[in-house]
Amino acid sequence: MKNIYWNENLIRKYDLQGPRYTSYPTAVEFQNDFPITAVHEAAAASRATNRSLSLYLHIPFCARLCYYCACNKIITKRREKAIPYLNALYREIALQSELFGADRLVEQLHWGGGTPTFLAPQQMRDLMNELRTHFRFMDNDQGDYSIEIDPREADDETLTTLREIGFNRISLGVQDFNPAVQKAVNRIQSEELTLGVLHKARELGFRSINIDLIYGLPLQTPDSFRKTVDTIIDFAPDRLSVFNYAHMPQRFMPQRRIRDEDLPRPEDKLTILQQSVDQLIAADYRFIGMDHFAKPGDELSIAQEKGELHRNFQGYTTHGDCDLIAMGASSISMLDRCYYQNCYDQESYETAMAENRLPIIKGVQLNDDDVIRRKVIVELICNFKIDYRRIEALFNIDFAQYFHGELNILQDMEEDGLVTFTRNGMHVNPTGRLLIRGVCKVFDRYRAQAQQGFSRII
Ligand code: SF4
Repeated sequence: MKNIYWNENLIRKYDLQGPRYTSYPTAVEFQNDFPITAVHEAAAASRATNRSLSLYLHIPFCARLCYYCACNKIITKRREKAIPYLNALYREIALQSELFGADRLVEQLHWGGGTPTFLAPQQMRDLMNELRTHFRFMDNDQGDYSIEIDPREADDETLTTLREIGFNRISLGVQDFNPAVQKAVNRIQSEELTLGVLHKARELGFRSINIDLIYGLPLQTPDSFRKTVDTIIDFAPDRLSVFNYAHMPQRFMPQRRIRDEDLPRPEDKLTILQQSVDQLIAADYRFIGMDHFAKPGDELSIAQEKGELHRNFQGYTTHGDCDLIAMGASSISMLDRCYYQNCYDQESYETAMAENRLPIIKGVQLNDDDVIRRKVIVELICNFKIDYRRIEALFNIDFAQYFHGELNILQDMEEDGLVTFTRNGMHVNPTGRLLIRGVCKVFDRYRAQAQQGFSRII
């Protein structure tokens, strides 16, 4: 059965700006004068629980600039720039291990960027060795150890190395196969190159392959994008993300090189998204939420089916019970009620690590209300439903009373068929799932601020 329905009128009506809710509260609420003592207290509490860990490492380097990029990255052809950064990262790994405990089990690992495969194979081996020295990894290939791959920076040796050092999942940036689009965004990667990397990864036994596509890029047409999606479906990746390109040149400098007149018209963009959704659903992918699709047998689909899916700064995850420790410039950690972010630039990061101090520049401590709302938003964005009794039991509240105002606001969405109220809860209908951010936003106490600075929902 389809778990998502396209209703253009409702999409037009509710296509507002909104956060992507990789956390609640979102990073916009982080405060600059966040006390380091709060991090130490949260780390001590984390150690006491002995929860498993999810580690994130940020490798900010890229050899070339993609014009659509909104990530924190350093564009350079000078590979030696990675050396002092890696040395700083080693120090941070040691520091975090001391703080959180070297015996903590790493259930999930992700290297993101930038371009993690900017590093040479030997540098990646050394980095993984350093991690294994300071944390406890799973030796049976059952951990979720993933890395972002740019096919232009991944030859057979790179892939073989990654598999050997323990990665079993990859996420590959494809975006669009159309050469004209690739030229307009300065990311030339032939279909042959990308498919070569994908097939090699499969041959090496990576157990999960995710592909990122972007719709709304310059010179994209419904016809051209359909071909890209068809080619990807033929390869049958386990997971797919179809991201919306949010053109915000006033905020992201590289995007100023994209000409406004080359962007698809809003109606074409909607058509591109609709046909992509149709193609993926026809190919038996499940809509997980936001921009993500997965095969029915994928762990994300199974977790969602069971109502056990979670979301964190790495996106959807089946490891919601882990504490997320993020290392490297600009990375964000999440520990129960404490979120915090490292400094952005390479120099400040390396200086902090040379002085052997945590490179944290801002963070937020969640209050009781934040924790309740976080749970509600996670339930909605991950599992498309709320069981009032579950929330009431967890937080000792009367749901209808606590969220009286929010439930009133949702009446409109109910009338439009986006959500349905039941006796003890509510669920998001297939028609409302593409607009899930809008439903979550109703429960966001900071939603007044959430109107600005976020991309549009679709
Ligand atoms: S999109 Fe990825 S590869 Fe391109 S510049 Fe940004 S971080 Fe680097």
